[in-house]
Amino acid sequence: MLTKTELEQDDLVNALQERINQLENIIALMPGHVFWLDRDGIYQGCNNAQAAFLNLASPHEIIGKTTSEILPIPQAADIDRNNVQIMEADVAALCEETDGKSIYLSSKAPLHNQQGDVTGLLGISMDITQRKRDENELREAKKRAEIATQVKTEFIRNMEHDIRTPLCGIIGISNYLKSKAQDPEYEELLQDIEAASTELLEYFNDILEFSQIDMGTTPIILKEFNLKEAIQSIIRMELPAIKDKNIKLYVEYPDNIPHVITSDKFRINRALLNLVSNAIKFTNIGTIKIRVSLGEKTGINAVLKIAIIDTGIGIAKNNQEMIFDKFTRCDPTNRGLYKGTGLGLWIVKQFMDELGGKINLESEPGKGSTFTLLVPIQIP
Ligand code: ADP
Repeated sequence: MLTKTELEQDDLVNALQERINQLENIIALMPGHVFWLDRDGIYQGCNNAQAAFLNLASPHEIIGKTTSEILPIPQAADIDRNNVQIMEADVAALCEETDGKSIYLSSKAPLHNQQGDVTGLLGISMDITQRKRDENELREAKKRAEIATQVKTEFIRNMEHDIRTPLCGIIGISNYLKSKAQDPEYEELLQDIEAASTELLEYFNDILEFSQIDMGTTPIILKEFNLKEAIQSIIRMELPAIKDKNIKLYVEYPDNIPHVITSDKFRINRALLNLVSNAIKFTNIGTIKIRVSLGEKTGINAVLKIAIIDTGIGIAKNNQEMIFDKFTRCDPTNRGLYKGTGLGLWIVKQFMDELGGKINLESEPGKGSTFTLLVPIQIP
């Protein structure tokens, strides 16, 4: 007959045994390869997945074996050396290991006794062979795509001379013949030739510029320039188109905004030109406003805000993101009602990214659009 204390002790042992069984079960069922070994590199246990991988009848069969016994491969010595190093350094490590056929990502950590001495090592390995293969394939595909892009870009650049030169010749000669033409019908035909060739040249220039920007070969040059004058010269350039469409264009350039700023003049100019010419193209009645203001300012650093506001056809919400992708245009422009290549906004976005700025868009179909450039600048 057991005493009360003995009964209590029995309960405690049973509860502990149950707890141990439960933990052993959890470890046995863990995904990946789990194993642990002692200070001499002798395996003391593993989970089901590791036992199945080693063709062992049960996880217990691993106990007492060395790496070269469970894995009779030349790489076993490397694995052992690595385990010893981790235990000696007493620092957990993440390492890639191979058995010659597969690649494993192993997380290995030293095990300690209550005094804090290293008594062994716990390892958890995952087979990452497929992931590695996918990564390599992706890397190769990326390399091939980069080479293809380079070839394409070089081809376009070589075309520059072959197409641009004769096209400029056609424009020049038709212009000359037009000035000499006696017959109004001839004059009109020559006018058509000139207009069509100019349009072709503009398309071509857009594609050329795109390939140059896509290659990232346009250097960023930060220097002082007169922003107000730059805006005025853009307006002068666009004046014929504004008059043609009978719309009004205003500039709001408050007195507190300095005329001279430090930034990349080429990029700001190009971005403004693209946005202003789009505003004119997509506005048939009403006004276009260029509003300049300053955002956050600390010392000589400030954020320049330039909003191009039009009362044109507007852009539907679901198109407001994709129009910044290359070669994308939305209805009705893509039905040929408005000319273009779908590259202008991509160029603007690219330039803003390169300058650490951004472009915002607010628009409502039928009411108009506001494109706002936010560019970090310096005020000299
Ligand atoms: P493109 O003007 O050559 O078509 P963009 O990249 O400059 O190329 O513009 C892409 C598309 O975004 C245009 O085709 C048009 O559908 C739309 N879009 C751009 N600016 C405006 C604007 N101010 N008003 C209405 N739609 C615009």
